[in-house]
Amino acid sequence: MSSLNFDALVVGGGIIGRCALYHLQRLGLERVGLVEQFGVEHNRGSSHSHSRITRSAYVNAGYVRLMQVAHTQEWPRIEAEAGQTLILPTDGCFFGATGSKIEKYAQAVIDTGVDCEVLDVKNAQARFPMFRFPTAAGAIHDRTAGVIAASRTMTALLQLVTKSGATLLTDTRVLDLDVTTDPIRLTAQQGEERLALHADRVVICPGPWATQLLPFLQPRLQVIRQTVGYFVLSGAAADFEIGRWPVWGNLGAPHGEIFYGLPAFGREGIKIARHVISGTDDTPDQGADEIEPAEIDKLRQFLESEFVPPVERLVGAEHCYYTNTKTEDYIVDLHPDTERVAVGAGFSGHGFKLAPLCGRVLAELVTEGRSSIAEFEAMRRTFSIAGP
Ligand SMILES: Cc1cc2nc3c(=O)[nH]c(=O)nc-3n(C[C@H](O)[C@H](O)[C@H](O)COP(=O)(O)OP(=O)(O)OC[C@H]3O[C@@H](n4cnc5c(N)ncnc54)[C@H](O)[C@@H]3O)c2cc1C
Repeated sequence: MSSLNFDALVVGGGIIGRCALYHLQRLGLERVGLVEQFGVEHNRGSSHSHSRITRSAYVNAGYVRLMQVAHTQEWPRIEAEAGQTLILPTDGCFFGATGSKIEKYAQAVIDTGVDCEVLDVKNAQARFPMFRFPTAAGAIHDRTAGVIAASRTMTALLQLVTKSGATLLTDTRVLDLDVTTDPIRLTAQQGEERLALHADRVVICPGPWATQLLPFLQPRLQVIRQTVGYFVLSGAAADFEIGRWPVWGNLGAPHGEIFYGLPAFGREGIKIARHVISGTDDTPDQGADEIEPAEIDKLRQFLESEFVPPVERLVGAEHCYYTNTKTEDYIVDLHPDTERVAVGAGFSGHGFKLAPLCGRVLAELVTEGRSSIAEFEAMRRTFSIAGP
């Protein structure tokens, strides 16, 4: 069995793991490594495809404040170091019926004074003429919103960490970890070979595979497969691009379904998905199976009832996994049995935009025991393994 030694090791090469690794290096750790069970670009977890939404509008003021840190410090830092634009501004439009989460969102943006405007339906229609708003009670115009160039970000982070000397162990699956040893011992499988990995510090970011490595998270997590559709609507292609078409979310009716979407970016068609947060517990190892026509029908029906431009055709579809906690709050905490291991899990349907901040927190927790971000420390309990 081969053996490798590290100052810090990150398990999981999704957006959270890459951000954690980047920050471990910023904190000065030198012998750092990333273990990923698949290749560097795979579509079996939660971080693949071209785009994600960023916004300040959130369900409570705590998250809005975290987003302010992410937008003003964390994303610009990565963009500057990567020498690339990773967030492309476009208006955000978030709306919902009376009694939906829109009321909490509106209160949170008012309380924090962030650059968002609460609109009645008449004003929302004037500002966002692509929507019909048949059931909305009001909307939030989020001027801080944008499209995250997601796959560009994933690549940029990998380039940054490898340039700074990180070791990449791809196609390598961590089978178990022993947190009682010093250093921490992880056993991994790489092809036919077993590896013994020893690390002073470990950050575990396994996405939808979390409960396989961390069974104690079982009661807190549910994996739910999502279906994303790409549609062409009637009109000039430029009308559906960043700057002209918003990122948006319909927060639904009370207990109703939630849909969200983005402009065309990186491929043909606007992006739309239903935000599914309850149902059966899926397994990410079931692989890329066929897209269910019933799911696509729901997306099409939503477009037909809520949008002014008629739907022309479906041009693509894909799956992606959410790893949900019941409250949709992330788990960003130290391992219950050792402060030498940090855990980033349960990033639900909204983890990408806060990944640079969460990666920093995970790196700081595992090296210093606490994070230097006051806005995170204020919410520490929300993100604890025990739950809010
Ligand atoms: C359809 C969809 C739309 C979304 N839209 C948005 C959005 O608009 N805005 C937003 O902010 N967020 C959004 N999200 C959420 C966001 O993408 C996720 O929260 C985020 O990608 C989670 O990243 P992760 O690193 O935790 O998981 P993953 O990306 O799944 O990464 C985990 C990695 O760990 C590896 N791994 C697991 N176990 C092991 C092991 N034992 N050994 C080695 N490697 C292992 C996996 O192979 C995987 O690569 C969306 C998610 C989906 C599915």
